[in-house]
Amino acid sequence: MSKLIHYRDKCIGCGICYEMQQDLWRMSKRDGKATLIKAEKKNKTFVLEIKEWDKALAAEVAVACPVKIIKLS
Ligand code: SF4
Repeated sequence: MSKLIHYRDKCIGCGICYEMQQDLWRMSKRDGKATLIKAEKKNKTFVLEIKEWDKALAAEVAVACPVKIIKLS
């Protein structure tokens, strides 16, 4: 199982992650940042275990994020 890690406080709200992978992301109406759906908060990050079939696209999303705050481990 792979983990997706989001450094949410550094998000600039561009919406690319949401546009690319709507199953995992939504945009917050409250602060305009991306939210990793059902992720667990760990210190300043949000962590989500993702399914094997979501992994390839999640890796593309991580590369596409302009501020590089999405990590796949
Ligand atoms: S792609 Fe990166 S900066 Fe843009 S909304 Fe998603 S997490 Fe935030």
